[in-house]
This record gives sequence, C-alpha cells and structure tokens, in this order.
Amino acid sequence: MTASAPADSTSGTLYVVATPIGNLDDISARALKVLKDVALIAAEDTRHSMRLLQHFGIQTPLAACHDHNERDEGGRFLARLSAGDDVALVSDAGTPLISDPGYHLVRQAREAGIKVVPVPGACAVIAALSAAGLPSDRFIFEGFLPAKAVGRRTRLQALVEEPRTLIFYEAPHRILESLKDMADVFGADRPAVLARELTKTFETLKGLPLSELCAFVEADSNQQRGECVVLVGGHTAPEGEEAVSAEALRVLDLLLQEMPLKRAAALAASITGVRKNALYQAGLERKS
Ligand code: SAM
Repeated sequence: MTASAPADSTSGTLYVVATPIGNLDDISARALKVLKDVALIAAEDTRHSMRLLQHFGIQTPLAACHDHNERDEGGRFLARLSAGDDVALVSDAGTPLISDPGYHLVRQAREAGIKVVPVPGACAVIAALSAAGLPSDRFIFEGFLPAKAVGRRTRLQALVEEPRTLIFYEAPHRILESLKDMADVFGADRPAVLARELTKTFETLKGLPLSELCAFVEADSNQQRGECVVLVGGHTAPEGEEAVSAEALRVLDLLLQEMPLKRAAALAASITGVRKNALYQAGLERKS
C-alpha cells in the first residue's frame, strides 16, 4: 500500500460502519449516531440500507457504492469528502470490506489523505469464531471458496497443512458440496463447526467431525438454508511428529528444485526456524 497523504484538516471523514448480520439490536449506539450525523451514506444496496435507516428513524441521504461502481464512482464520494462532508460507508450486513464492497473507496480515501475511521460492530466471521469452541488464538479467514469444484478443491488442498483454525463463508446452495470436499481433502475426522443464521431465529452452531457434519447437513434440508460460516480445526501433526508449516514446506520445495534433500532441509531450517530433522522427514515423504 502506498503511504497515505497527510490528512487535510478541511476534509470530511470517511466512517466505515458495521451494521447487524441479522438481529437489528446488534447495531451500536455510535453507529446510529454516525449514520444520523454524516452528510451522505455510501451503501452497497441503497434499498436494503433504506430499510435499516427507516427502522431507526434516520433520514440521511444514501448513494450506491457497490462492486460494480465502486472503482469508477469512488471519485464522487472523494469529492464530497474533500469538500468537507463526512460520509459513512455501509454494506448490506456486517462489516464493510469483509467479503463486501468498500476496499477501493477506503484505499482511495486514504491515498487522498482523507481520514478513515472504523465504527466496529457485527461481523459473521468473528461472531462464529467467538462461539465455535475451536482454537481462536490464531485463525485464518478464507472468505468464499471458488464456486466450481476444481477451483474449490485446489484452494482446500493448499490449506491441508494450515495449523490455524480455518474460517470460510459459504452460500447455502453450496454448503453440502463444500463440506464434502472439505471432508475429502482435510480428512473425515477433522473437527468442524457449522455456524448458521447467527443472531437470527434459527441460529445453529453444530460442531462435529467433518464427515459427520456432512451427514448431519445432508439429512436435514433446513441445514442447507440461510447464511452460513464453516470453521475447521487447523492441521495438527501426528503424535511424535513436529508440525511443518505450509510456508516451511513451500520453502523446502523451492530449495529441493536446486539442491539435494539434506542441504535443502538444512537451509530451509535456518530460513523458517523449523527443525532440520522435521524438514528432512517432510522432504522424504514428499519425494515418496
Ligand atoms: N460483511 C459481512 C460480515 O461482516 O460478516 C459478510 C458479507 S458476505 C457478502 C455474506 C456472507 O457472510 C454469508 O454468505 C455468510 O457466509 C456470512 N454471514 C453473514 N451473515 C451471517 C449470519 N447471520 N450467520 C451466518 N453467516 C453469515
């Protein structure tokens, strides 16, 4: 990212405002105040956000800021901000930019030296993680997997040895095939949690090994409806075997193209900090 220009004190502020992911009570008092006070709200879908504003009696004007116009129309919002108007950015649900539009506008604003302020709130990935009971000290958010099976399995394959908790968004009509691919690629026994319809009437958090989670979802078509987050426990090395991270394996693979295993393992060990023996073993397994 290029360094942002120094903030211009006459410019307005771009507020990035989180809205609820279901339960309207999850909007913060600060979010409501900001939405009421700004000159303009840049919204992913103006009709959708209009309903939220009407519910809270807010009359601030709305303008569209979605995936298709964000890059070209960003200038319109920047002009308003540069002229001194405060603007709030919202998406249909949850936190803007998190699998939602807003990235280009935020980036452009920062590059133009406009102050960008987050107004935090609901976010499905964090809500799901907070209640899933899987390790939460380190996790990775993968957003939506590719819709087509080949692309999806390739992406999952690249994550097989990822030790951190994995979090995915998924569309309901693809949940079953995605879970089946996860069970195939990560293994039937990997712990997983399906977090569905969070904060809504039919909220479900179901934790089972992947193969059993597939069976549970397949047996009940209701589980294939609504909005869902899938969380999968990270890779754990078999007992007695040291975990070799995906990054360490990538380094090892690159070095193996240039030198024998013993030397590659030693060099990869000094680059990544993983023990030489563990890398040597991993190299042997890869060769076989
Ligand atoms: N910006 C949003 C956020 O902060 O979470 C995410 C927007 S993304 C377009 C929509 C996806 O988020 C859904 O397909 C689902 O995977 C997840 N999601 C949103 N609301 C949810 C909810 N109430 N329960 C479970 N998942 C939800």
